[in-house]
Amino acid sequence: MPEKDLYAILGVPRNASQEEIKRAYRKLARRYHPDVNPGNKEAEEKFKEISEAHEILSDPEKRKLYDEFGMAGLQAGFDAERARAYEQWQQQQREFAHGFGGGFGRFESFEDIFSDLFGERARPGPRPGADLETEVEIDLLDAVRGRTMEISLQRPEICGTCLGSGEDIASSTTCGECLGSGRIQVARGPVRFSRTCPRCGGAGRISTRACPKCAGSGQTVQVERLQVRIPPGVDEGSRVRLQGKGAPGAHGGPAGDLYLRVHVRPHPLLERRGDDLYMNVPITVGEAISGASITVPNPAGGSLRVQVPPGSQSGKLLRIRGRGVPHLHGGGAGDLYLRLMIHVPTQDTQAVREAARTLDEQTRPHPRDQLKL
Ligand SMILES: [Zn+2]
Ligand SMILES: [Zn+2]
Repeated sequence: MPEKDLYAILGVPRNASQEEIKRAYRKLARRYHPDVNPGNKEAEEKFKEISEAHEILSDPEKRKLYDEFGMAGLQAGFDAERARAYEQWQQQQREFAHGFGGGFGRFESFEDIFSDLFGERARPGPRPGADLETEVEIDLLDAVRGRTMEISLQRPEICGTCLGSGEDIASSTTCGECLGSGRIQVARGPVRFSRTCPRCGGAGRISTRACPKCAGSGQTVQVERLQVRIPPGVDEGSRVRLQGKGAPGAHGGPAGDLYLRVHVRPHPLLERRGDDLYMNVPITVGEAISGASITVPNPAGGSLRVQVPPGSQSGKLLRIRGRGVPHLHGGGAGDLYLRLMIHVPTQDTQAVREAARTLDEQTRPHPRDQLKL
């Protein structure tokens, strides 16, 4: 709240005497009195302001509080002793922090101090639930195709039997810390405040026996099974957000989100580089020499027909556009690279040896003629 300047309202200096204050008030009151300004709302407001300023500044006790603490010092229940002690303590903290070059130590605003001094803070409003994160492991092909899977989520929940205290309420006795009131006095610097008792959590009763339901933890674990959709394109470390599947909100707040941290198991035949995929494709010596139309498995499912050009060497890459991993955030996909690997017949027969000799005789120039360092 903006601080009212009562001195400015009366048009007197801060060091004005009681006599000056009285004179200023009388003069203004005559001008703005409702009797002389019938029906004038502005004058009425002004008159109220003047009267309030006069009421405070003409009372030496109130004026002193106002000078020291502003309007907050005049609120019902204000304790000047505590406020002063608090301010002093704050000042010491500030000096202490300065001794270390400043920059640390947390100073509360005046408003914080006053809300502390008046005890209760505002009632909590709706709070959104916390986000949860869990890990899922999928195959590389799942990352390419997307996948629906069931996960079991362990959600900690406040134990319904002991309401989070972890204690066996049936065998409870009055809390020794707060003597059953549920509140204790705590010191904040030299100032004492009433706070919820940390021992009994405000219940006023405690038990030495653990809650039979949660074994004293105050929480039970709720296992929830969820169907989740892993979108195509996810990669190792991707976080998939599932809106509203996190922890429930408090006081009517919305539920948090659930994040799936994705781990992708490597595939024995497919290598992923960004959104491109690499696959080794064995071809026969004849297919390498003459070229061929071959069939290879499609990472997205089904199969692909691919043309191997004549004279293909081992290691040659065939690029198939758009058959890699779909881009996670939409708009097409990476490419599929087929790495041709010439497969030599492994059976050592007369026919194979003869065919090989014929092939070698026809291989001109010799492939190692160019191999010079
Ligand atoms: Zn319990
Ligand atoms: Zn207690």
